[in-house]
Amino acid sequence: MTHHEPTSPDDTFYGSDFGALQAFDPDIAGVLLSELGRIRGGLQLIASENMSSPEVLTALGSTLSNKYAEGYPGRRYYGGCVEVDKAETIAIERCKALFDAEHANVQPHSGASANQAVYGAFMQPGDTFLAMALPMGGHLTHGAKVSFSGKWFNAVHYGVDRETEDIDYDQVAQLAREHRPKVILAGGSAIPRLIDFEFFRNLADEVGAIFWVDAAHFIGLVAGKAIPSPVPYADVVTFTTHKVLRGPRSGALVCKAEHAAALDKAVFPMMQGGPQMHTIAAKAVNFKECATPEYAEYARRVVENARQLATSLGEHGIRPTTGGTDTHLSLHDLQGVGVTGVDAEARADAAGIVLNKNAIPFDPQKANIASGIRVGTPCTTTQGMGTEEMTAIAELIATAVIKGDADPDHEVSREVRAEVTDLVTRFPAYPRP
Ligand SMILES: *Cc1c(COP(=O)(O)O)cnc(C)c1O
Repeated sequence: MTHHEPTSPDDTFYGSDFGALQAFDPDIAGVLLSELGRIRGGLQLIASENMSSPEVLTALGSTLSNKYAEGYPGRRYYGGCVEVDKAETIAIERCKALFDAEHANVQPHSGASANQAVYGAFMQPGDTFLAMALPMGGHLTHGAKVSFSGKWFNAVHYGVDRETEDIDYDQVAQLAREHRPKVILAGGSAIPRLIDFEFFRNLADEVGAIFWVDAAHFIGLVAGKAIPSPVPYADVVTFTTHKVLRGPRSGALVCKAEHAAALDKAVFPMMQGGPQMHTIAAKAVNFKECATPEYAEYARRVVENARQLATSLGEHGIRPTTGGTDTHLSLHDLQGVGVTGVDAEARADAAGIVLNKNAIPFDPQKANIASGIRVGTPCTTTQGMGTEEMTAIAELIATAVIKGDADPDHEVSREVRAEVTDLVTRFPAYPRP
């Protein structure tokens, strides 16, 4: 093995050298800079986004990106894997410890890739599974017609109750008994409330199904022990690492030991080729961050802030579905203020507030118009904002959405933007050293 012994303190670290990039490629360096400016300049309320640490970004910008390492630690199809084996083993051990899981696979490239592995491990084309419908809060990869999951498998979908706007558990049970699915899936992208994992576990046992939780959105709250964990109940839990969790853009899964071999084979070689070792190293850094008391406090504040934001928006007539939230996000019905989701998104954007239009349950509008917006607090909480700021943000959103305009030069856009600037100056994203 040829190996330069690491590393005297003055060794050069290759990677993340912005000056060199700027000198060679000012076009792309300019985009990186102005994207940072965009993040710093506005309020980031997209519920699926966060701001990962400089340490995570450093691991991402490292030479580990070069290494081919198909296979798993100690069982690779390439030589030279001694160092990346260390990184992946550390990531796996930290992931298992963080979630108290029997097995972890840290190779999925994204949430969607992790989900593919579950289909690959447990289902054959044409098999039936049960999941939440996309317009009710589910996800494309949960059997939407445009996704592989809806094209190659028989998706049966449950929704929410008209009264409570929360998961219709009676419907879930009835559909499971009627269709006897191979897999029952809980989780989604616009579910503000806690999910009753014990109910799903019992139902899966009753009908002989695998119980899968897609925790892409809320896994960070689980890591920070701010909400209950699905890990003791589910056969497999898939997740993204870049949402509340605040790691690199990627995915992972944890499962019961009995499913370890099937899921590992489904991730590689069934669905993926070489793992992204720089991203795996960054996931390891993130898992270490998530095990700290500071992160637990962060997760607690994310929920506290989301509750405040949902309540305050409601006081401005922007009604939270289900009456509020238990998590990091809330979904709001704009019909009471007579604005569509698409207009609300554009008006907020013109005022320096980034959020997304979202279908609400039983939405009378098409998905590309929508009657709702979705807001989340992972980013603003990372910036250090608290409940007082959430009350202020709700007022800014209400002003922009109800009285504002999609034109950034409109008087209301300017007024709200000035207040946004004040907030993000007091609570900067990626503060300058
Ligand atoms: C975000 C999300 C995904 C997909 O994650 P990607 O990393 O974008 O592929 C899957 N499932 C749910 C529920 C999500 O919210």
